[in-house]
Amino acid sequence: MKNITILGSTGSIGRNTIEVISRFPDRFKVLGLAAGRNVELLQKQINKFNPKFVCLERREDAEECKKRCGDDSIRFSYGQKGAEEVAGSEENDIVVSAITGINGLRPTVAAIKSGKRVALANKESMVIAGSLINKMAGRFGAEIIPVDSEHSGVFQCLAKERFEDIKRVILTASGGPFFLTSLEEMKQRTLEEVLNHPRWKMGKKVTVDSATLMNKGLELIEAKWFFNLVPQQLYILVHPQSIVHSLVEMKDGSVLAQLSITDMKIPIQYALTYPKRETSPLPSLTLNQMKKLEFYEVDRKKFPLVEIARTALEEGGSLPVALNAADEIAVDAFIRKRIKFSDISEIVTEIVEKHKKVRVGALEDIFDIDRDVNDETRNLIEQRY
Ligand code: MG
Repeated sequence: MKNITILGSTGSIGRNTIEVISRFPDRFKVLGLAAGRNVELLQKQINKFNPKFVCLERREDAEECKKRCGDDSIRFSYGQKGAEEVAGSEENDIVVSAITGINGLRPTVAAIKSGKRVALANKESMVIAGSLINKMAGRFGAEIIPVDSEHSGVFQCLAKERFEDIKRVILTASGGPFFLTSLEEMKQRTLEEVLNHPRWKMGKKVTVDSATLMNKGLELIEAKWFFNLVPQQLYILVHPQSIVHSLVEMKDGSVLAQLSITDMKIPIQYALTYPKRETSPLPSLTLNQMKKLEFYEVDRKKFPLVEIARTALEEGGSLPVALNAADEIAVDAFIRKRIKFSDISEIVTEIVEKHKKVRVGALEDIFDIDRDVNDETRNLIEQRY
């Protein structure tokens, strides 16, 4: 029996993880749940799995939830400190790290320091702190398994290969809802249209990032750290069917690929059962029923954030931190209907181009840079939009 903690249990990845775990009651036990503000759903998860640790974002929600449970054996906590405690528990075997954004970094680090398996869905941890994360994983003996579908695809292709034999890695992008929309039309797109992703059901932030293709830019940086690659080995292709999740060209010319139906439960389950595989009730991929699998170059004019992300990937240092921070604020402003869709890439581009690169030596440097760039981005939006 493996003890599992889910950080971000009420989010999209969290709910899918719960579905996977529910199918293996003899193999997995839910030890801890950390959620944001969705007390209703968290309550249901508590009733079903009877975890030992529960964490909420706010103190008042944690107290409310505790009162409703009336179970003294459950340890309730709240905020970042609480999430770190749950993530760092010695009793964990696997921590599923699925809190969105930079808020997921400290709990991810706590899980890594406990030296356990971390099923990593919080891509920001790798994007902004990849070098530190890898060093820590080595030092504390933690095992980091990707949950992001493209990275899981690469990881699965490489399960029996050596990373040093990779020639290049191609991550696929669905192209988001605006793959066929002209640049002019794209500028007018509303929040509702942006949130209507053709292939994947996800949280708001990552759905907006998929529409700008920033998500793929962040995933390039994530892949660099996951697979120890140099920027010249990393490519993106738009693949609207989202069946091939990634391709890995090996140095002898063989190209390996991972294909599956579009369902996050597949990479989640693999991260939990790796190196084994378990039977899944999901429908088979029926390639004969698909008319075609298409692949296209990214339109750089329509999706300028891919190029900005590549600059951050190549330059390194604090640039990925600035990129991520500017994007978090800009996307949040768009979700609050404060700015237009096309403003997101304008704002992020300006902030990243202005950013003076510094070395990132410690975790606290990252939080300082993040705070500064957040303020700078908010000011820019305040003054100009
Ligand atoms: Mg992905």
